[in-house]
Amino acid sequence: MKIVDVIPHVLSPPLSEPFAFSQGWVEKRSSMIVEIVTDEGITGWGESLCHGLQPPEIAASFVQFCLKPMLISRDPFDVEVLWEEMYNQTRPFGQHGAAINAISGVDIALWDVIGRSLNKPIHKLLGGAFRTEVQPYATGFYRLQGKDHLQEGVKEAQRHLSKGFKAVKLKVGFGVKSDIEYIYAIREAVGPDIMIMIDANCAYNSAAARRILLECERAKIHFFEEPLAPEDIEGYHNLRNLTSTYIASGENIFGKTSYRHWISTGALDILQPDLMSAGGFTECKKIAAMAQAWNTMLIPHVWGSGVGLAASLQFISNILPAPLSMNPQEPLLEYDQSAHPFREELIYGAISMDNGIVKIPQKPGIGVEVNRDVIKAYRKDVFK
Ligand code: CA
Repeated sequence: MKIVDVIPHVLSPPLSEPFAFSQGWVEKRSSMIVEIVTDEGITGWGESLCHGLQPPEIAASFVQFCLKPMLISRDPFDVEVLWEEMYNQTRPFGQHGAAINAISGVDIALWDVIGRSLNKPIHKLLGGAFRTEVQPYATGFYRLQGKDHLQEGVKEAQRHLSKGFKAVKLKVGFGVKSDIEYIYAIREAVGPDIMIMIDANCAYNSAAARRILLECERAKIHFFEEPLAPEDIEGYHNLRNLTSTYIASGENIFGKTSYRHWISTGALDILQPDLMSAGGFTECKKIAAMAQAWNTMLIPHVWGSGVGLAASLQFISNILPAPLSMNPQEPLLEYDQSAHPFREELIYGAISMDNGIVKIPQKPGIGVEVNRDVIKAYRKDVFK
């Protein structure tokens, strides 16, 4: 089988109501969807992560100008060889960020081609399913212009609970005092049995993060995500073991060589590689193996369209709990509930939560079909 085309689709529609996290206002929802076409008529789909403030054109340019010329006429089954060649060729101007995001989108699309050609879901190709369903947690709780965040937060929590969620992740990083007040307000609203996580998106130093951890002990936070910037690995060390709250990070860590430092030095309780950002299936499988070797939990970061969500479910199916036991601490699905114009429509609404559980798609490849009408409707022509 040969690759005959690699198409980076840039989708970037504006939001009718922008929302804020600790680093700024998200005005549009962007996706960079990778389509790989083969000479056998099989098409594979992947996605590169676009953070809230990340222009999708950057990863698309990596694919268009750098990766595509390397991939034409190559065999998708050589996926690991291709990964290492893409990484090696982009090293002088890559290693992190959009370069690895781009490689991730390509890698997911290559695995999708392989799965579709063998008529198997990707988790079967990775070694099988440790689980066929996963508990999701609701990501949301962004700030809205002109609305009281405490009232909105309580209303939003009730909305997630009424849908069946048993776990929610709050956006914090808006100031220590404000965050502490917010965390206790939501805990009071949801009661003691709902799992609460918090995510500061790198807004603090270790002193401020320590104060939040200690003052929120009674609120029983399951994990604190990205309290600090990823450059401050020593700060992360300082925060571990202060309270029973787990310390988590990973959406801004790229590839096995970066993860090696975080895993081998024990900086984190929970690793959060994003399949669409940290290197796709080929690389994240290796990161998961390193996590297992250091007996560290892995809960992937997921924030994108339905393509990335479906691919992430394939990965989650194959993550070994650390450690395996009769009643292990299972990975969770980060299930983004924030505003998005096409997340579900792009995959014909093929993924949903039922009784608080999301099933792993069992169809070939990433397990869902892509709605080309949605791509057409939102696609920006950036390489004319
Ligand atoms: Ca996050």
